Amino acid sequence: MTKQRELICRIVQNTDRHLTAEEIFVLAREQMPSIVRATVYNNLSFLTENGILRRIRIYGGPDRYDRVLAPHEHLICDRCGRLTDLTVGNLINMLKEKTGLEITGYELNLHYICPECLAKGSGPGSPAGTDGTTQERRLSAEKQKSAGYSQPPGTPEGRRRKTDG
Ligand SMILES: [Zn+2]
Ligand SMILES: [Zn+2]
Repeated sequence: MTKQRELICRIVQNTDRHLTAEEIFVLAREQMPSIVRATVYNNLSFLTENGILRRIRIYGGPDRYDRVLAPHEHLICDRCGRLTDLTVGNLINMLKEKTGLEITGYELNLHYICPECLAKGSGPGSPAGTDGTTQERRLSAEKQKSAGYSQPPGTPEGRRRKTDG
């Protein structure tokens, strides 16, 4: 294992948070200033493809990396993006029965509002200490209003999505 790969591995394995590639890059650079972003991304691909780390794909957000390989699900807070491990048991048999198909696996992400965010107040317009988020949300809502419908549906630009291979 290269020094870089070892470092990336250690960063993910020393936290129970689910870091994004960007967060891993920032932490890696603190210890190895010469490391470049591409190295981090390439090594994360290698580590997940070889079953050393687990990649969690999140709809509408960046991938996260998990040191826990044992089957488990994730709770995602829609407000702060925090990811929490959750075990709901093996649903394969239930899914097989429901669908009548030979299901081989599944990925389950449950979205919720975490207790901390709930305590901060309800509603997206809450002013309780989340000015940045509120502002951002308002801006993107306005952007949608002004630009969202100007693009004709079905154009190649509209349909093309970012892929990461
Ligand atoms: Zn939250
Ligand atoms: Zn996890």
